[in-house]
Amino acid sequence: MRAAVLHAFHKPLVVEDVDVESPKAGEVLVRVAASGVCRSDLHVMEGESPVANPPMVLGHEGAGVVEEVGPGVTGVAKGDPVVIALYGPCGACGDCRSGDIANCWSESRTHNMYGRMNDGSVRLSLAGKPVAPMVGSGSLAELSVVREAQLIKIDADIPLELACLAGCGVTTGMGAALNIAKVQPDSTVAVIGCGGVGLNVVQGARIAGASRIIACDTQSAKLDLASDLGATDAVQVGGGVEVVEAIKALVPKGVDYAFEVIGIPEVVNQAFESTRIGGTTVMVGAPPVGSRLTIDPRVLFSDRKLLGCTGGGNIPGRDIPRIMNLYRKGSLNLEKLVSQRLPLDRVNEAFEALQRGELARTVIEL
Ligand code: ZN
Repeated sequence: MRAAVLHAFHKPLVVEDVDVESPKAGEVLVRVAASGVCRSDLHVMEGESPVANPPMVLGHEGAGVVEEVGPGVTGVAKGDPVVIALYGPCGACGDCRSGDIANCWSESRTHNMYGRMNDGSVRLSLAGKPVAPMVGSGSLAELSVVREAQLIKIDADIPLELACLAGCGVTTGMGAALNIAKVQPDSTVAVIGCGGVGLNVVQGARIAGASRIIACDTQSAKLDLASDLGATDAVQVGGGVEVVEAIKALVPKGVDYAFEVIGIPEVVNQAFESTRIGGTTVMVGAPPVGSRLTIDPRVLFSDRKLLGCTGGGNIPGRDIPRIMNLYRKGSLNLEKLVSQRLPLDRVNEAFEALQRGELARTVIEL
């Protein structure tokens, strides 16, 4: 099967034939229909991600149809449409059993993060050498072997090229607003970085009932999109416009919630400085490996909260069906998140666009 493989950092992906084994116990072979291209894929290509381990198949925002199930799989069957989640909880560790599913860090979750199955092996290979799928998904490929726990069955009426966005971007952005910050009705929100994830922080804040949502980005096209998705104000950063000043010009005491959705430590600090006393900052973007964050401890001392999150604290079995229901009701817009659709052979164009920071999401159609 064809897959987009990373062989070396700072090099384009190679679309080539990769061997795939049949699913073993508790595993499922998925025929991928569509996959979003996310900044986290780019972080891996740049060697800036802890999960980077080439050769590997990139992609972690996929949806498709079940092709074959391994022994013991009962939750999905051949022909079912599914979203491949960012992770599959083990269901057995103390965290899972106490309901803290998003923070399951069992051995199986660790294997999952590095693209390995429960037994530590992988199902993909190139000329006999193992190839890991990114976070156990590897959705920039025609086929993916996934643990059953990582799959969420969805209804057949939802287009897979939109449903795939629930794999990462939508769950992460909405989850940051709803699960981590727990945005309250009539509150004020600033979102710094309005790409594929930030736009969903905007949507999450709107769904939570925030009265003021300030979108901040360097690109006017993304600010226009943010307005369409619920932002009430737009700040175009750059050209002498400083983000903290601009936010405080709109909300002088500072906002209740600020989100950093790029992955730059200095921008986390700017988000933090733009909150009011008692306000909450959530770092959503993945910071580079080895970077350090410097904040003014006097600002933290004033009852402010600075929170981190991975994947928006999402619980796939709860949050992906919620996203599908909100989409069906018209509360959540998925169509506008897709800036362009490309075939797998042109996957590197998606990364070039991501690097230029121009687009919300490119969806690769398998
Ligand atoms: Zn992602």
